[in-house]
Amino acid sequence: MGVRFKILGSSSAGNCGFLQTEDCRVLIDAGFSGRRICEMLEACGESVDDLDAVFVTHEHRDHIAGLRGLARYRKLRVFANSFTAEAARGGLRTDLDWRIFETGHRFVFRDLEIDAFALPHDAHDPVGFVFSSGGGDLFHQRTSIGWALDLGYVPDGVRERLSRTDVLVIEANHDGELLKNDRKRPWSVKQRISGRHGHLSNETAVDLVENTPGARWEQVYLAHLSRDCNTVERVEAVFADASQANPRRLVSVVSPENGTGTPFLVRP
Ligand SMILES: [Zn+2]
Ligand SMILES: [Zn+2]
Repeated sequence: MGVRFKILGSSSAGNCGFLQTEDCRVLIDAGFSGRRICEMLEACGESVDDLDAVFVTHEHRDHIAGLRGLARYRKLRVFANSFTAEAARGGLRTDLDWRIFETGHRFVFRDLEIDAFALPHDAHDPVGFVFSSGGGDLFHQRTSIGWALDLGYVPDGVRERLSRTDVLVIEANHDGELLKNDRKRPWSVKQRISGRHGHLSNETAVDLVENTPGARWEQVYLAHLSRDCNTVERVEAVFADASQANPRRLVSVVSPENGTGTPFLVRP
């Protein structure tokens, strides 16, 4: 067994990924209630009791809503930088087993190497992750997974880091036209969403996927769709050309309505 990866759910309402290596099982973000995360794990034959750690990108609710419910699983370590941990602590009844990392540094947890890098987004110290594991012998290839869900634009350094991954999870948050015509959000909120510290539009996401020279991606997941200002069909339409340009690359849109998440991606 090499690496197994699955997005349990992703949209502007909640985000959570599951990653299993030879030596650990971890969550990437915990943006659903603790109970919902337990159900999602059970639905795919996993158990919260077997989890070793959660890696948290930033303190927005759609990334940490489950920490409160997961706090009773005492062996669960929660990796975050100090600003994110501090901001998240306010909403917790009991403290967690925080493991503080420094943004911009690589660190190791068991057989996982983690690169945590800054993203432009309106949180205290938001990060994206690259997780790498395996490749220690002839029978197991090294697999790396990039997770960059909340960012207003793609800085060159982030693009470069993500380009070296095999699997990319990137946000395609909103459709420019649907956001402009949305009646629920005041103008100031629309400015924040589309601003340099907000979220990626479908067009900016397609630019990353199409125009990143030397990118290794075999699988790209377009995730964190806004429920009000995007649709799976709109994302698919924008990406139809990108997929044709590189037929060996699988591009999938993660539907906000998909309660069972993406199928397991397994790499030996
Ligand atoms: Zn956010
Ligand atoms: Zn988010």
